[in-house]
Amino acid sequence: MRFPTFSVPVASWFLLFLSVSAQDRTTEQGEASIADPNQECIPYSYAPVAKAASSFPPVWQAATIVAGDSDALAKWNEIQGSIPNIAVKGTIDGDSSQSNNYPPDDPDCWWTRSQCVTPKHSGLPSDIANVPEPKTLGYGFDDGPNCSHNAFYDYLASKDQKATMFFIGSNVMIWPLEAQRALADGHEICVHTWSHHYMRFILSLKLHQTFYSSYLTAMQAIKLVTGVTPTCWRPPSGDIDDRIRAIANALGLQTIMWKYDSNDWKVGIQGVTAQDVDNNYQTLINAADDGTLDSVGAIMLTHELNNFTMSQAVKFYDQLSDAFDNLVPVGVAYNKTHPYVETDYSLPNFDEYISGRTTVSGGTPQSTSSNTSASSSTSMTSTSTTSPSALSDSNAGLRLSSSLWTYSASILLGTITYILS
Ligand SMILES: [Zn+2]
Repeated sequence: MRFPTFSVPVASWFLLFLSVSAQDRTTEQGEASIADPNQECIPYSYAPVAKAASSFPPVWQAATIVAGDSDALAKWNEIQGSIPNIAVKGTIDGDSSQSNNYPPDDPDCWWTRSQCVTPKHSGLPSDIANVPEPKTLGYGFDDGPNCSHNAFYDYLASKDQKATMFFIGSNVMIWPLEAQRALADGHEICVHTWSHHYMRFILSLKLHQTFYSSYLTAMQAIKLVTGVTPTCWRPPSGDIDDRIRAIANALGLQTIMWKYDSNDWKVGIQGVTAQDVDNNYQTLINAADDGTLDSVGAIMLTHELNNFTMSQAVKFYDQLSDAFDNLVPVGVAYNKTHPYVETDYSLPNFDEYISGRTTVSGGTPQSTSSNTSASSSTSMTSTSTTSPSALSDSNAGLRLSSSLWTYSASILLGTITYILS
C-alpha cells in the first residue's frame, strides 16, 4: 500500500509546535487527551524508544537482524531448517508477475492467488479467517497505531467496544503512546510486521531473515512500548504462503486473515470509490441479516489508516451492531484469554464479553520508561473529549496532514536506506 505525500509549510509546523507544547506528550493519558488531530500528529520524543532505537532497524526499512543481536540470530538458526523450500513469488513492491507460472493447484497455499487458509505443508496450523460464533463479527483494524486516532478510540470507548488492532512496528516506534492507548483501552494487539512490506519477496536466504526479522522486531517494538508480546499477526495485503506461515508459527504467531474486505484503504486507487467501500460494508451487513453467518461468524478487513477509514468504521458501527449479535475482538471470539506471551494480562472469554465484562485484567502499559504513567483500562475512557462527528468534518485532509507527512518522510527514509543497503 502506498501513502500519499503532503507538504506542510514550515511556519505551520512551528505554530503547531508552539500550540502543542503545553500538552503532556510523555504519558499515554496526556497523549490520549489531545483533541486536535493536528496536534496529535506532531512527532514527539519518547525516552524508551529513543534509548532503544539502535537495537531496531530504521523505521519503514525492511528489517534485518540487527548486528550483535545474538538471541535473534540463534532463534533464526533454530527455525530456518523448518521453513519449506518454496519458490520466489514476487518483489518487495508487490509485483508478482514472475509467479504467472505458479501451479493452479496452489501447492504453497498462497492466499494472494487462491485465498487458501489451510496449509499444504505439514505441521502448520490453519489461518483464522472467520470466527466460530454465529452472527458474530471478529472486529479489528490494520495499520495502526495512527497518530490521529483519539476521536476513533474515544468513539469505541463510548460504545465499550474492544477490537483487535494489527500494529505496524514502525508506527509503534513513532507513535508509542498511541500504541499504549490500545492496551489501556482494552483492545487486543496483534503484529502487522515491522515495515508493511509484501511478504512474497523472498529472494534468498538473507531475505528469509528479513521476514523473520519483520515479525520479531515488530513484536519487540510492541513489547518495548506496551510491555506485552503479541501472539497473533496479519500479513500486509494478505500475502502469505506456507513458507511465511512456518516463520510466523516458529515465533508463536497465529495468522489472522479475513473473508470480507472493505477495501477502505484503497479509495482513490485503481478506481475504488467511497461508494464501493459503503457497498462492501453493506455486503457484510447483508450477510449477517440474510442468514449467511448463522452458523459461523465473519472477519472483515478494515483499517486504522486515515481519517476516511476510521470515519467509515464509525459510520457503520451502529448498523453492524444491529446486524450482528456480537462484535468482539478476534481473540475473544476464540476464547483466547491470554493473548500475549506475558501471562499477567487477560482478556475476557466470549461468554464474559457478550455478558458485558469486556475487560478482565491488565490494560496497564508496562513500558520500561520511567516517565510513563500507567493507566487502567477503566480510567482511560473519560480522558478524551473529541466527538465522533469530528472524524467526518470538512477539515479531514488538514487534520491528517502531519500524520501522512510523517508516514511519507519515514517511507522515503526507509526506501532510501533499503536501496542503499
Ligand atoms: Zn496493512
